[in-house]
Amino acid sequence: MQLINKTLALFAAAAILVPVVANAQYKLPQKHNKQHSELLASQKPMAADIKVVNVLKYMSDLSKPELPDQDEVYGEYWVSQSVNPYVGVSIPEVKDLDVSGYYHPIVGPVTSGFGYRPRFGRIHRGVDISLHVGDTIRAAFDGKVRMTKFDRGGYGYYVVIRHDNGMETVYGHLSKFIAKPDQRVKAGDPIALGGNTGRSTGPHLHFETRYYGLAINPQLIIDFENGVPIKDSFTFNKAAVEKSNLGRRVAKRTTRSKARTTASRKRTSTKR
Ligand SMILES: [Zn+2]
Repeated sequence: MQLINKTLALFAAAAILVPVVANAQYKLPQKHNKQHSELLASQKPMAADIKVVNVLKYMSDLSKPELPDQDEVYGEYWVSQSVNPYVGVSIPEVKDLDVSGYYHPIVGPVTSGFGYRPRFGRIHRGVDISLHVGDTIRAAFDGKVRMTKFDRGGYGYYVVIRHDNGMETVYGHLSKFIAKPDQRVKAGDPIALGGNTGRSTGPHLHFETRYYGLAINPQLIIDFENGVPIKDSFTFNKAAVEKSNLGRRVAKRTTRSKARTTASRKRTSTKR
């Protein structure tokens, strides 16, 4: 019993002593502490928010595709007479397009979407946005005006801009041009005034988004309600876009064959 008491006393003594010894042993030298405070001091000018901005920029850059070679974008098929200068040119199968720099050309309600119009027996290759004659129309992306032209039976006064991201946009039924062919424009720069020229039944902007001459449904790229791109990057898929550009007869046939496939699949599953 006495032995146990002695052992306990020893442990108690050790418990008091050890922290004191440890403290003494691991106390950092004054010089080291000074170095530490100097290191901390030299970090001060680097503001925390700068680091965060850099990280955010880095992360958003990661989600953006690289811009195509600008000499190729503007050096090839640069004509002033044809809406689609890429006829006969081989089109990439799949391509990520940087649409992050988008600027909404005009704020207004969409009155007609992209797609086949049975009433006219043709494809509507853009989106119609209602406006007042004389409203300012702005460039959707950074780019260069390729053409300004008049088309009595269709677009009326219209502008085509080619963009740094490789796309082209078309603006139709305008009343007045502001930008001139070969003029460099920034996203948001005024390019024309809205109107009711050409084949139009009321003041509106006919707006197209194209890649290699193929019209992409703008509502797949842009959230028209908020006037912003849906995502920073749009994946162009040639097969899907070509299909969306087909006329009624082909579209109907596709629907019918799809229905047939579904019906036969249903029959098969009933058999099982
Ligand atoms: Zn239209």
